[in-house]
Amino acid sequence: MNEPETKPATRSRVPIRVDLVSDTTTQPSVAMRKIMADAVVGDEQRGEDPSVNELTALVADLLGKEAALFVPSGTMANQLALGTSCRPGEEILAEERAHVLTSEAGAPAALLGAMVRPINGDRGVFTVDQLADAARPGNFKAARSAVVAVENTVNRGGGRCWPPELLSAVAECARARGMRSHLDGARLCNAAIATGVTLRDLAHSYDTVSLDMSKGLGAPVGAVLAGSRSSMEHAWLLKNRWGGAMRQAGILAAAGTYALRTNVERLAEDHANARLLADLLTDIPQVQVEPENVDTNIVMFRLTDSSEHQPFVDRLLAETDVRVGVMDHQIRAVTHLDVTHDDIRYAAESIRSVLTALG
Ligand SMILES: *Cc1c(COP(=O)(O)O)cnc(C)c1O
Repeated sequence: MNEPETKPATRSRVPIRVDLVSDTTTQPSVAMRKIMADAVVGDEQRGEDPSVNELTALVADLLGKEAALFVPSGTMANQLALGTSCRPGEEILAEERAHVLTSEAGAPAALLGAMVRPINGDRGVFTVDQLADAARPGNFKAARSAVVAVENTVNRGGGRCWPPELLSAVAECARARGMRSHLDGARLCNAAIATGVTLRDLAHSYDTVSLDMSKGLGAPVGAVLAGSRSSMEHAWLLKNRWGGAMRQAGILAAAGTYALRTNVERLAEDHANARLLADLLTDIPQVQVEPENVDTNIVMFRLTDSSEHQPFVDRLLAETDVRVGVMDHQIRAVTHLDVTHDDIRYAAESIRSVLTALG
């Protein structure tokens, strides 16, 4: 059978020289693969996989929550969290760029029967007043606002970090209105490193928190959802219902545990590389970039002529073997553990030379 046409074309099996398209492209290291191969495993659905149990206990502890659940993806973690926090016909509030709203294939509607009402923030961040304005108690006509979903760092906000006090204040505002709160922490470790605030403090005010193992942390697969014991029991039922229960998943969980122990502090290198890239790009006349907006590992930039974005990105890959992406009418470059300082210098030089050739 042919591949469905909606699946993005893969280029080849040859690694790209500098792949900045996403921090999801990281390859598991030799050390990580060894840990995976040696992992002690069991039946995850029965709660009998020691490596999964080790990861979930570690994440629950890091986030200061009672319990946690290992799931195949950040998308499933988010939808499980929202599923434990709203009923059909209720409303989820999220910033308009939020992954739960823009990138999860309509899951709140398709899986939860919930409405999503977007809040128009600033690069993914909104104020307590904006939440208070949007939140509705619900009545026989208006849907009740049941849960607010907050993303940190904000993917489509260029990896922006929420100011830690505002992050907590938004969750407290939701709680005061009888709403629940979910923290989409696909890149929460990046936020912790960039702000110097612990994962536990960032997560503190939130009912549920998700963490991706497969982004900057460099594990091949998986995410963890954490929250109260009763929320996780509900999430466990939904996970089973959606076919997310696994068997000897410890092979994957072991990679996550290893990543959390070895690859968190080093995210500072990715952040430094992203700032270096942004700084180098400021010297290129055709590029518009704001290095002061680079909080973590994502650099967004524009060309003077935005209709050139896709042709430029295609040519950059074809001619220099540097891959970046186009997102929301901007170009996006993401640093990660397979990208070195020298790679960044090569990428910036390649961007300059291709733009010079384009004229
Ligand atoms: C990548 C991402 C997710 C989803 O993660 P997957 O593991 O790819 O499903 C959720 N939220 C944000 C902000 C992300 O960047």
